[in-house]
Amino acid sequence: MPITDVEKKQLAQKHRLFYKICRDCGVKNAPSALRCRKCRGAHLRWKKRELGAK
Ligand SMILES: [Zn+2]
Repeated sequence: MPITDVEKKQLAQKHRLFYKICRDCGVKNAPSALRCRKCRGAHLRWKKRELGAK
């Protein structure tokens, strides 16, 4: 089912591009994560990409 709501689509793109990366094991984590879901380490860094820049 295609998403026709522009606001929802932009929100989904934002969520897809904004997440945290573990410095220890490199796994992706949720933006709200305080610790790595895999190794439980607290060394998370932000992964950010500008919208539209591929
Ligand atoms: Zn980790």
